[in-house]
Amino acid sequence: MTPPRNSNAARDIANVLHPYTDAKAHLKNGPLVITRGKGVRIYDEQGKEYIEALAGLWCASLGFDNERLVKAATDQMRKLPFYHAFTAKSHEPMIDLAEMLIERAPAPMSKVFFGNSGSEANDSALKMIWYMNNALGRPKKKKVFSRIKAYHGITLAAASLTGLPANHKLFDAPIANGRFVHVRTPHHYHEAKPGESEEDFATRLAEELEARIIEEGGAEECAAFWAEPVMGAGGVIVPPRTYFEKVQAVLKKYDMLFVADEVICGFGRTGSYWGSQTFNIRPDILVCAKALSSSYLPISAVMVNEQVFQGIAEGSSTVGTWGHGFTYSGHPVSAAVAIETLKIYDETNIVAHAAEVGAHMQAELRRRFADHPIVGEVRGVGLIGAIELSADKAARKPFDPARKAGPRLVKHGEEQGVILRAMVNDSMGFSPPLIITKDEVNEMLDRVGRALDALAVELR
Ligand code: PLP
Repeated sequence: MTPPRNSNAARDIANVLHPYTDAKAHLKNGPLVITRGKGVRIYDEQGKEYIEALAGLWCASLGFDNERLVKAATDQMRKLPFYHAFTAKSHEPMIDLAEMLIERAPAPMSKVFFGNSGSEANDSALKMIWYMNNALGRPKKKKVFSRIKAYHGITLAAASLTGLPANHKLFDAPIANGRFVHVRTPHHYHEAKPGESEEDFATRLAEELEARIIEEGGAEECAAFWAEPVMGAGGVIVPPRTYFEKVQAVLKKYDMLFVADEVICGFGRTGSYWGSQTFNIRPDILVCAKALSSSYLPISAVMVNEQVFQGIAEGSSTVGTWGHGFTYSGHPVSAAVAIETLKIYDETNIVAHAAEVGAHMQAELRRRFADHPIVGEVRGVGLIGAIELSADKAARKPFDPARKAGPRLVKHGEEQGVILRAMVNDSMGFSPPLIITKDEVNEMLDRVGRALDALAVELR
């Protein structure tokens, strides 16, 4: 249906190139225009209400109407709306936020570098590692390992770390310099051998990793391993028990850094403050964004330990500057909002809330959907989860992509008043605002259930 002339939809179609959208199909289908939000809900132009099952993009942790964050932003806007951090300039919001992050880190950290997005933060972390190894006289130690189905963002280096086909195809990614190595996805449901326990699967993954490290030149050439504690955009993949312990033992042997991409998992999502704590990870570098400011303003952070900082310090002293930074690194208004966000997390004990409501969501997801005829696997931890659709439950076979089961479920969800997102293998992610209550979880899953039933009828 062609939208009326001069409507928002028509003007969107005429003027906007949308991220993560089939640009050609969009000319025909048009947008869903959202006008306001309240709590865990958003409203479209027609006033229709939806529960945001993904908190936008796994990010609006405090929901869509937090007045304290609005006030923090406006107060800072009036005081100092912009200043930068280049050439040793500084301001209090950035200093306070860096200090707060280091106090809350899951492992000893030395310094914080700020960016505006998760992609920028991962790009920055990678550049830090290459820079550091050059500065320390290890010019060959540059290879970085990440996992197939990982999501680390879309700038060129971050897209190269990412392990999803849509982020590589037609983009000439990964960068073909031989430095990006992708290893097996730690997904027991699809990747384990028949009868293989989670622990045995984890052992095999660690052995495969070690074999690949040796093949790629060992300690001399291999620099770092990148991981989301729970893989998000790849389909919410929770690692098998003991995986990260075993991986870290291998990395230690080859003097490789662990970079924890906590862009989704940070700030309570998995039921601990950091995903690193849920899975016993001791990162050398930690990347966070999204819930850092409840996404009210763009901001990301890279925390580095003393070893990495010393490498950067060494290099910058030789060059005369660390030639890296964004105009908006540590932006005072974004930093002020992030500080207020972290204070709210502390005051409301958001982590305990997420753990409690998360346990309820996990139980309800399984109780309602594990035996559903078109659901293959239900998985997750804390307030992050997924259901994966399956054409054949016993064979763990996905639907033929041509049937568009996932996108159709998203459409049914919209009709039922819940915003969903389809990912790899028609996996449907759940990552609602951390403030969601048990009753709201139930309401959200009631709507999902109706959408699933409608899809099952359609696919029969
Ligand atoms: N890392 C992870 C784990 C993410 O989920 C994302 C975004 O979803 C990114 C990095 C990239 O963040 P951004 O979209 O802010 O660049």
